[in-house]
Amino acid sequence: MSKCLFCEIIAGRIPGEMVGQTDSLVAFRDINPQAPVHVLIVPKEHIESMRSLEKKHAPLVGEMALMAQQLAEDVGYGQDYRLVMNTGINAGQSVFHLHMHLLSGRDFTWPPG
Ligand code: 5GP
Ligand code: ZN
Repeated sequence: MSKCLFCEIIAGRIPGEMVGQTDSLVAFRDINPQAPVHVLIVPKEHIESMRSLEKKHAPLVGEMALMAQQLAEDVGYGQDYRLVMNTGINAGQSVFHLHMHLLSGRDFTWPPG
């Protein structure tokens, strides 16, 4: 069974540039940033994607949103920001461990690519 990249980063076996942590979440900088601020907010629990969420995960997802709000102030200097959760290969998901992208520090266009 192949190992999960984000589980390895959470366990400290693969380095990650951490910017925040709670009992249930970690946040680290994306290795291939798409904006001056590009942080990944990741549950410590291995959940594959939005598709795997259950009712019991509702507080966890709320915590992800609140951590994004806080990091947007602390790491993103309070600038406007975009939150993204790619779900499935065709939507751009490449790591199958739930995560929220926090992007900030430049202007964004809509619709996204
Ligand atoms: P996804 O494409 O699944 O929405 O997002 C996965 C993100 O993980 C990508 O933006 C990618 O750049 C990032 N990523 C891939 N490998 C690593 C790594 O080893 N370390 C870190 N910090 N980010 C990674
Ligand atoms: Zn994982």
